[in-house]
Amino acid sequence: SEAAKVVTRFAPSPTGFLHIGGARTALFNWLYARHFGGTFKLRIEDTDKVRSTKAAIDAILDGMRWLGLDWDGDVVFQSERATRHADVVAALLESGNAYRCYATAEELAEMREAQRAAKQPIRYDGRWRDRDPSEAPAGAPFSIRLRAQTEGATTIDDRVQGPVTVNNAELDDMVLLRSDGTPTYMLAVVVDDHDMGVTHVIRGDDHLNNAFRQLGIIRAMGWPEPIYAHVPLIHGADGAKLSKRHGALGVDAYRDDMGMLPEAVCNYLLRLGWGHGDDEVISREQAVDWFDITAVGRSPSRFDLKKLENL
Ligand code: GLU
Repeated sequence: SEAAKVVTRFAPSPTGFLHIGGARTALFNWLYARHFGGTFKLRIEDTDKVRSTKAAIDAILDGMRWLGLDWDGDVVFQSERATRHADVVAALLESGNAYRCYATAEELAEMREAQRAAKQPIRYDGRWRDRDPSEAPAGAPFSIRLRAQTEGATTIDDRVQGPVTVNNAELDDMVLLRSDGTPTYMLAVVVDDHDMGVTHVIRGDDHLNNAFRQLGIIRAMGWPEPIYAHVPLIHGADGAKLSKRHGALGVDAYRDDMGMLPEAVCNYLLRLGWGHGDDEVISREQAVDWFDITAVGRSPSRFDLKKLENL
């Protein structure tokens, strides 16, 4: 059936603990997959070699196990997939959907400076879009950029945000492969989601703008488009950006320092943005039965440590 094909994923960057926002994203993806009898996958986005740590990977896996968010199949490590990412870029180059850009870092900095001075939007001006690579100095380094669709508009029918449209003119030709041969985040996410068969991308709405760019790559490859659900970020009880001072900690701290139970933490996370009538306590089984991503509210939910402690 249609439902059995659902594949969701949680794709954290291992640069810190499993925090409240990440844990909620993981929970929503897990619930969505379990509700439809689908598959929930875990991908560690460890391409940032400087900021990714083994300790953070362990904390994420440990936190997910503690919360009971079991994933299907092996953990995918993004850093191990660089060859595949480069192969996709080669295919895009071959099909004319990508091109070599020989602009130097200094040149691009100048371009941006001029745009800033002229109060224009800061975006790549397509200077190598229609140039012949033979015009570049022999052996000069180049990056590879997507030849973005410039006409018309793109609409995403987001399951949480509703239909969201951007003018394609606003999406410049983004870099897919850097001049050192490493793939960009934007490319890696798209290729990995495709290869993992992801049908539903549920994540924080700080990624909504990225979705339009990611769709550009998906369409250029002729791949099926996932369904998107961008969940509003969690704010502090005072409405400010969530931070440690609000008591927003790694989930391990709720376990080790505060002695909380995973059921209580999950119940609290679930109700940050989603609810079932006035029900205060929702069991795991009920959550799986009832969960509906389209019922997640569009305004940011507020984290309140006192409420979590009182559960
Ligand atoms: N690795 C990204 C992050 O931790 C998430 C990417 C995604 O969900 O598409 O913010």
